[in-house]
Amino acid sequence: MKKAYTIEITGMVQGVGFRPFVWRTAHACAITGSVQNNPGGVVIYAEGSEESLAHFSRTLSSSCPPLAKITSFTQKETTPVGATDFIIIRSTSAGAYTVQVSPDITVCDDCRAELFDPADRRYRYPFINCTNCGPRFTIIRDLPYDRAATSMAQFPLCRACADEYHDPSNRRYHAQPVACPDCGPAVFAHTSRGALIEEPWEELWRSNINAGKIVAVKGIGGFHLACNARDASATRLLRQRKKRARIPFALMTGNLDWVIQVCFVSVHEERLLLSLERPVVILKIKNRFPGIEHIAPGLDTIGIMLPYSPMHLLMLDVIDMPVVMTSANYSSEPMIHTNDDALATLGGVADLFLVHNRDIVNRCDDSVAACPATLTLLIRPGRGFAPYGMSVDSTKQVVAFGADMKNTFAFSHNGRLTASHYIGDCEHPSTQKILLENIEQSIRFYRLRPDYCAHDLHPDYFTTQLAREFARTRGLPTVAVQHHHAHCAAAYVQNNLSGKAIGFAFDGTGYGDDTTVWGGEVLLFDLAEYSREIHFTPVPLPGGDAAVTSPQRMLIAFLHALGLWEAWSDPAKHAPLAGRILEMMNARINCPLTSSVGRLFDAVACLCGFTGDQTYDGEAAMWLEACAAADEERSLPFTLAGNRIDCTGLFAALLDLKKAGISPAALAGRFHTALADIIEACGLALTQKYGSLPWVFSGGVFQNQLLIKKIASRETLRGFRIYFSSCPNDSGIAAGQVAVALAKTARF
Ligand code: ZN
Ligand code: ZN
Ligand code: FE
Repeated sequence: MKKAYTIEITGMVQGVGFRPFVWRTAHACAITGSVQNNPGGVVIYAEGSEESLAHFSRTLSSSCPPLAKITSFTQKETTPVGATDFIIIRSTSAGAYTVQVSPDITVCDDCRAELFDPADRRYRYPFINCTNCGPRFTIIRDLPYDRAATSMAQFPLCRACADEYHDPSNRRYHAQPVACPDCGPAVFAHTSRGALIEEPWEELWRSNINAGKIVAVKGIGGFHLACNARDASATRLLRQRKKRARIPFALMTGNLDWVIQVCFVSVHEERLLLSLERPVVILKIKNRFPGIEHIAPGLDTIGIMLPYSPMHLLMLDVIDMPVVMTSANYSSEPMIHTNDDALATLGGVADLFLVHNRDIVNRCDDSVAACPATLTLLIRPGRGFAPYGMSVDSTKQVVAFGADMKNTFAFSHNGRLTASHYIGDCEHPSTQKILLENIEQSIRFYRLRPDYCAHDLHPDYFTTQLAREFARTRGLPTVAVQHHHAHCAAAYVQNNLSGKAIGFAFDGTGYGDDTTVWGGEVLLFDLAEYSREIHFTPVPLPGGDAAVTSPQRMLIAFLHALGLWEAWSDPAKHAPLAGRILEMMNARINCPLTSSVGRLFDAVACLCGFTGDQTYDGEAAMWLEACAAADEERSLPFTLAGNRIDCTGLFAALLDLKKAGISPAALAGRFHTALADIIEACGLALTQKYGSLPWVFSGGVFQNQLLIKKIASRETLRGFRIYFSSCPNDSGIAAGQVAVALAKTARF
């Protein structure tokens, strides 16, 4: 007696080899019927004996393909129609759009083997891929995910590829980006002036890198600039031409043994380096190699990634050295992703261009991750990780515009919160344009009809203005979300918390609800509301934004505000800058107040020997972390009185210790221990007041691996529920804004 079921599966089930898996399982279980992609995921009609149907459903949910993630599985009995075969039917675009776009996936072992097999027809073909690997998000123009809706549409399949594509038993069955040297994309080389060079690209790459030249390479999500990492003059040249003084560059190498030689690599870090997502992993340097000082100036860490595309594998196969691989852009503008833009704007930077003719539809930076203790922190959510989703307890649709710096956006629909890839710094009009384009695209992809639009509380943020304009043209209500509430809310939803929590939001800058600049807050909060329980005693930011880039201004500000001016004996005290800053502070001209821990780091870094202005966000704090003796257990004094953390004792002690000739490493180490002490004191005070609640850590300061380790390894904090944000910097803000907006509007 035959029975039949309609099975609906949602989640990451498109572009990951799910339909062929269903097809194979159906054949193995003697099931007839069909499978089809729809906007919600996959719909299966299955017919067979009761026993084989049960076996079929079990196998579907228990042994799905490596990249697939099932979020829901519903099965309804229906009337058998007498199907005689099991088939895959064309995708439909009718229905609700809940399917998730798959991120791009690094080349798989099978494809890698073929790539280096001289007998294979795709031998050394830089665009080899299959259902288990290859580009996804970066080539998608629309959903459902089919070849016609990707930038592979312009490459008609040759006979051999078409056979593989249509054969359900082949591992390239319905692999949308499938290609070969006969029918697929190709690599082209150009001179710095854009002229085509008719020579094999691998040879050009090898000779240019060996000669210390800079090569612009088109990858999966955009262009990179590459040079020999061991050639200090090549890296210096790249810095000069790119106008980037000290920001750390990432490295790419195919040699994991070499990585283990030059860096400390934990099991967790090794797993991340080798993961399908292949992020840049921030590793602690063990043995410095010649040239490293130009790659990560002043730091004790370096970002390394392994090759993730077949083209990278070939590039690293022909040279025996690590290469610098940094996003091709000017300053902090968005990464270049089209051939025309690259050739038009990078002529003065690159000596050679390696481009290809598969369009990058969606620009996507490399992800950057770090692994303090046993955590994985996403410092930049990009290729491989984004877009990423989590469940939320609401079906309302919110679009959130995120923060101005390190922007991402996020949206919710059908009970899922989706956070975007890294967009960039919105001070650039080009980044603002990209943000809007990407939001519009998500609206199109998922057929969104937003109920609310969320943005930062800061009235002058570019993203606030863009969000208001967006809301105005669509007639949407807006929800303004305080920056640090959003930081904490992001960590809260990432960790699936409920009820009230204690939130430590330590970062650079965020607009407070009292119009001062916040950044050192301890909140009692849930998603709907917060109260500012404890904060650092505010100090002036002399010159506003000018103080943000000048650690010296911050040191002067702290010492003056805390009444330690007399105790300071540094010659800088008598420099003209100090005089001007004192005047400003005395007259209270352009001296907004801040409780920022980021600025506290800046001041302490300056006191420990950081000189000059910061050339990128967080430079002084990263320098101070690198400077710190990690095993320094001694601390510095501070006072927690009422709702204030006062650092007068901390600075007074630092000045005394410095005068006594204590090393900067010891001072920096003590400062990190003192911050952990401050956190413990605040947490315990609030626990006494409100009972045992989870502690949540978020904000840019919690990218500091030393601080995280100090908190995570504290004996005295055993037994407390401690949660770190997996995306602590402002790239995590958008997800927090969505969560807060959903909670606030749930009551309406
Ligand atoms: Zn593959
Ligand atoms: Zn082909
Ligand atoms: Fe922030």
